[in-house]
Amino acid sequence: KQTSPAQVEFYQAVEDVLESIEPLLEERPKYREHSIIERLVEPERQIMFRVPWMDDDGNIQVNKGYRIEFNSALGPYKGGLRFHPSVNAGIIKFLGFEQIFKNALTGLPIGGGKGGANFNPKGKSDAEIMRFCQSFMSELYRHIGPNTDVPAGDIGVGSREIGYLFGQYKRLANRFDGVLTGKSLLWGGSHARKEATGYGAVYFAQCMMDDKGDSLEGKRCLISGSGNVAIYAMEKLYDLGARPISCSDSSGTIYHEQGIDLDLVKRIKEEQKGRLEEYLETHNNAEYTPRDDYPKDGHSVWRYKADLAFPCATQNELTAKDAQSLLENGCKCIVEGANMPSTQAAVDLFIESGAAYGPGKAANAGGVATSQLEMVQNASMLRWDFDEVDEKLKGIMSNIYHDAKRTAEDFGHPSNLVLGANIAGFRKVADAMIEQGVV
Ligand code: NDP
Repeated sequence: KQTSPAQVEFYQAVEDVLESIEPLLEERPKYREHSIIERLVEPERQIMFRVPWMDDDGNIQVNKGYRIEFNSALGPYKGGLRFHPSVNAGIIKFLGFEQIFKNALTGLPIGGGKGGANFNPKGKSDAEIMRFCQSFMSELYRHIGPNTDVPAGDIGVGSREIGYLFGQYKRLANRFDGVLTGKSLLWGGSHARKEATGYGAVYFAQCMMDDKGDSLEGKRCLISGSGNVAIYAMEKLYDLGARPISCSDSSGTIYHEQGIDLDLVKRIKEEQKGRLEEYLETHNNAEYTPRDDYPKDGHSVWRYKADLAFPCATQNELTAKDAQSLLENGCKCIVEGANMPSTQAAVDLFIESGAAYGPGKAANAGGVATSQLEMVQNASMLRWDFDEVDEKLKGIMSNIYHDAKRTAEDFGHPSNLVLGANIAGFRKVADAMIEQGVV
């Protein structure tokens, strides 16, 4: 039952899971008897706090900070921090809720949590970012710990922010421990963590293509976003012989028929933290559509002809009209790098059409899985090389895919990976909750 109209994304995420697990609840009444749903939808703990900081002009600014520790049945809370002006309790709750099942699907011992702030990093100086991160951690540090809650990055939180957050944690706690993941390789980070979500989504796509007796070789791919997930999805697509032909940011979309110039995108977005529009200064044969010119009912990035689509920006960025356009243009495989990027109506269309559809909570789990590998390395004070982590990531993505697929088949909906992923994730968490008693 919806009790707060403000939490639309959270209700959307809950509805998605509850609908999928209906056949499981029929088969196993014990979940109802133990009130698992009622307990699952209520976070174990929600922390909301003031984040005051001083800007470069000496003005005091105030933001809202959040950490929602949703479920620890399977392990310490684990999930990213998002810094974006759109952040509110409903967004963090939806992300935290998704995280529970995603983390369960990895098969690794991690619970679900999420956090962030309604802070806009765009246009801020380095010193402002540092002061904000220090203030944020000044409250957060008392709630986290290597065996309690281990945050990571998400939108607006990359290696720079993780560095400032970690520095402040260490100063306050006087401990150098693996309390954050996505750290720099110089001081406790893991090889392949930066690449993991994007690479993982492409490994997932590879499993889907394999099952169709096809491959990624020569395939035209639409990507949205141009941040961490989008960049490393494009990198792995090129590695495997596919051709990414689009990407986007919050101001507009680039379409480049001969293939996105990835080095240039990295320079613009990772180094200069600039706008994608600058791509045209180097490639005047590419097409740029500013956000104001997008179709009223969707997003330009999905209106091109392609074989695969990888939404890698943000929630609800792919509408029913976009889904229709993708399917009409021959797109046969949709793999979500972002969290809940397709609206419910878009998902329904994908599933009805018989296209291969990989939901975010399965397809983008490579990031959190590799974060857990970072925790393992930190706890043992060892560092594995890139290939070792990458191999483990590949294995984990293949397991997630096959687990979701097998579960979908067992419940009579072969190829419905939404149902398969939700049931497979839910079952693990629910069984652990029952075994741990009424807590
Ligand atoms: P980044 O901040 O690195 O990049 C986000 C990208 O999406 C940017 O190109 C940004 O544009 C664009 N974007 C963000 N918000 C909006 C918006 N409201 N409208 C249009 N474009 C937008 O984030 P990540 O790449 O890390 O995250 C992308 C998605 O992947 C998110 O849904 C995140 O939750 C999910 N995810 C990330 C993981 C990770 O390991 N990083 C793990 C699993 C999921 P601009 O540059 O203009 O801001």
